[in-house]
Amino acid sequence: MSIAGGAQDATSDDEREILDAIERWAERELRPVAKRFDHADEYPTDVVEQLKELGLFGATIHTEYGGLGLSASTYARIVMAISSVWMAPVGIFNSHLIMAACVQRHGTEAQKRHWLPRFASGEIRGGIGLTEPNAGTDLQGIRTVARRDGDHYIVNGTKTWITNGVYGSCFGVLVKTNPEAEPRHKGMSILLCEKGDGFRAAKKIRKLGYKSIDSAELVFEDFRCPVENLVGGVEGQGFKHAVGGLELGRINVAARGAGIAAGALRDALRYAQERQTFGKPIAQHQAIQLKLADMATRVEAAKLLIDQAARKYDTGQRCDLEAGMAKLFASEAGVENSLEAMRIFGGYSYSTDFDVERYYRDAPLMCIGEGTNEMQRIIIARQLLERHPL
Ligand SMILES: Cc1cc2nc3c(=O)[nH]c(=O)nc-3n(C[C@H](O)[C@H](O)[C@H](O)COP(=O)(O)OP(=O)(O)OC[C@H]3O[C@@H](n4cnc5c(N)ncnc54)[C@H](O)[C@@H]3O)c2cc1C
Repeated sequence: MSIAGGAQDATSDDEREILDAIERWAERELRPVAKRFDHADEYPTDVVEQLKELGLFGATIHTEYGGLGLSASTYARIVMAISSVWMAPVGIFNSHLIMAACVQRHGTEAQKRHWLPRFASGEIRGGIGLTEPNAGTDLQGIRTVARRDGDHYIVNGTKTWITNGVYGSCFGVLVKTNPEAEPRHKGMSILLCEKGDGFRAAKKIRKLGYKSIDSAELVFEDFRCPVENLVGGVEGQGFKHAVGGLELGRINVAARGAGIAAGALRDALRYAQERQTFGKPIAQHQAIQLKLADMATRVEAAKLLIDQAARKYDTGQRCDLEAGMAKLFASEAGVENSLEAMRIFGGYSYSTDFDVERYYRDAPLMCIGEGTNEMQRIIIARQLLERHPL
């Protein structure tokens, strides 16, 4: 069963080939090691090397800067295919690509030429640092300050929950270059910060799921960041840049949710045909069939919503409504399908011998990341009202 393909498949032959190769790789290389790394909460160094070889650190970086230049639609399918086996490794290249997308969309030509080839090869890896201990959804409430001092900014503050925080070396960090600005977003900028004196990962956060991948607190203490690392070269654009990246981020999170939903369905379908009660496979009991039908419908609906949002994104159209709907629906589908798979597996769902317990622990994160689902509903409603005024 191809997880990421679908009726609306319009990918080019090249993109189809990449997708097939990734699906085969995930089955061959990822599935056998997922459980071990997840349970040990150990960083999958070998997997990272393979991600590099597959070119995934440059998946959405333009070919002129050394990336694969994939469309959002194809990238979403790749994310879905890997997530259906093990979602966590996607975070290693996805957060990195959000940082790269910020440079690709908003950086100066000199910044693109300097950073993007190094990001694409995986030579420099990292992520995006927005969230702080006191500010997640309310990003304008961040307290990290960058004060100009000659040809450097002096950065002080703390970021938290930053994906790749321990093993990554470079981050797009949202800071206040003018903490007094009103409205607050006008005083915000994004700096590309490479670890060094004054910038370190303070602690790795222990988590319910999404294991193996480092989520960390990053501390800046009089860290000197060169002025040429200000994304776009103009102060005050950081909030716009951060929020602008969220459409693609939401499509990606949706694809991770849909991947988990599809993985839960795949495992449940197999188990329901193997496990017997009362003299027949449990798949022959109507109560189980109803669950399988709902699970499969959620997966297909999630794929269509993701595809719709990704196509709009690829053609340069505004897609916050569509990306919000895809993110909301697909992430909830991941949660619902993983719970239904737990029920279908009965007592064995509680055993760490099966993958469904991992899907169940990993899925809820998709309802939080890239804007909580409460916020997605608010964004969807606002857009509806804007598009349909009386
Ligand atoms: C595993 C993991 C990895 C992460 N990776 C990164 C990363 O790489 N980079 C990064 O910058 N961040 C990262 N985050 C942080 C994540 O983006 C935030 O947790 C998320 O934005 C929510 O912020 P918060 O946790 O501060 O919740 P809060 O903002 O405190 O929200 C708490 C609750 O209040 C609700 N709420 C808040 N405001 C409103 C409102 N106006 N109306 C209605 N409801 C509201 C929220 O929906 C939520 O239910 C990660 C988080 C996790 C758990």
